[in-house]
Amino acid sequence: MMNTLHKIVWLFAGLFISLTVSAQKFAFTHDDTLRGSITPERIWWDLAYYHLQVKLNTADSAISGSTTIRYRVLQPNQIMQVDLQRPLKVQKVIQDGKELAFRQDGNAYFITLQKKQVTGKTESVEVYYAGQPRKAKRAPWDGGFVWKRDKAGKWFIATACQGLGASSWWPCKDHMYDEPDSMLISVTVPKDLTDVSNGRLRRVTEHNDGTHTFDWFVSNPINNYGVNLNVGDYIHWSDTLQGEKGKLDLTFYALSEHEDSARRQFQQVKPMLRAFEHWFGPYPFYEDGYKLVETPYLGMEHQSSVTYGNRFQNGYLGKDLSGTGFGLLWDFIIIHESGHEWFANNITYKDVADMWIHESFTNYSENLYTEYYYGKDAGAAYVTGCRALIRNDRPIVGIYNVNHSGSGDMYYKGGNLLHTIRQIIGDDEKWRAILRGMNKTFYHQTVEGKQIEEYISHQSGINFQKVFDQYLRDTRIPTLEYRLVNNKLQYRWTNCVSGFDMPLQVCFNQTGPNTLLKPTTQWQTLPTPGVTALTSDPNYYVLVRPLVQAKP
Ligand SMILES: [Zn+2]
Repeated sequence: MMNTLHKIVWLFAGLFISLTVSAQKFAFTHDDTLRGSITPERIWWDLAYYHLQVKLNTADSAISGSTTIRYRVLQPNQIMQVDLQRPLKVQKVIQDGKELAFRQDGNAYFITLQKKQVTGKTESVEVYYAGQPRKAKRAPWDGGFVWKRDKAGKWFIATACQGLGASSWWPCKDHMYDEPDSMLISVTVPKDLTDVSNGRLRRVTEHNDGTHTFDWFVSNPINNYGVNLNVGDYIHWSDTLQGEKGKLDLTFYALSEHEDSARRQFQQVKPMLRAFEHWFGPYPFYEDGYKLVETPYLGMEHQSSVTYGNRFQNGYLGKDLSGTGFGLLWDFIIIHESGHEWFANNITYKDVADMWIHESFTNYSENLYTEYYYGKDAGAAYVTGCRALIRNDRPIVGIYNVNHSGSGDMYYKGGNLLHTIRQIIGDDEKWRAILRGMNKTFYHQTVEGKQIEEYISHQSGINFQKVFDQYLRDTRIPTLEYRLVNNKLQYRWTNCVSGFDMPLQVCFNQTGPNTLLKPTTQWQTLPTPGVTALTSDPNYYVLVRPLVQAKP
């Protein structure tokens, strides 16, 4: 339906695109705006708690249940937006025992509250729903519900909904800016199956209809795509780690048919946690423990229940993304998805346009893990090796308020951006303090990308504004143009944002100490007697272009 709001949204989206990424074409819908913006019907209430109750009906891949939403009233309003994606349907909404009227608009429901909503009060509403949730086409990328069977023919079911949104399987405020302080997840499944969700298992309740209910409690804020269920014929075992914040409970879940390989491969968890606590500070969810859970898809950073489907082998499905060999020394999914506990689950983007906060730092965590166990050169080789995967097709930062993420370059180019920044800071202890400080300063928060950019500039004492503009909001690789003539070096930045002024370490004549250049977009001259060749420090993600070859 093309109503006035719809037209305004299109106009707005059109303007925004032409102002920011003029070379690209995107079409955003009314649904995208309802999903991706902090609407008036969302902003007035603050999530305090969710209780999700969901029952799986394996016979027809259907689910039914409810979400109890407890919230604080920030400002009075009588209309509340709750999201649930088609083909699931909200059946009824109840507040204080009274059924409420609601209006469906695509994947959003606008509930008319009868009770006067008073600022500062905590209220709750129950949203009942049912239907057949969207089946994942290619989880975790094109996600939803995965319904598979193990080798013995038993059900092996899981959810993965990053990007798609949690409202693809349960009613919620499906925008990342707001998280509940805690959550209870109650999943009812047939008696021969076990559910593993986030947080800690509180109880299992047996019913006389052949089912039982698993109650999992998350005592920390959780982002909505982090909530998950995993259902199968699981066995589990436990361990503990003496970590920076004391004793951390570890629990491992694998299909009984994979017990031996899982027990072997999952031994990588402890060294991973040690390395990441060193770089990033304490694991952010000691209260909820750490779990690694086998799934029928590759993996996802589900908070405190990291999911795993990497076939119990090292690398990314057996491959080394960096092409250096270092990527085969560890299990990509254990390292990468667990790295997200710090960058995604502890520090969470408010808007998916800033998804680089999750993926750039977590890509970089792979190199830090490599460095921790195999040395600094190995880590550097890994991150620079991943450059072969950079596309420079679109900016890393996406478009705000329409649920749009930027280029996949947020992984490898993002990692190389951070590696480049580390070179400029030139002090590894300071760099580590910044990474740890971020996890402390933004502990359990949702943030904007700008806050992270400003934090790094502020803590390092170096203004990285132009560097972030270049690598996050532009697709060009900055290029150092130079000439070596008459015992002088002339140099400047080109192919860059205006005012780009990133310092760069270079080496003359292939040997000798590095020299720090401070190029700008204007030509500068440096006396360089006897210099016939220039190379840039390979740790910086830049190009170097000689304009005139020096005579031998
Ligand atoms: Zn990731």
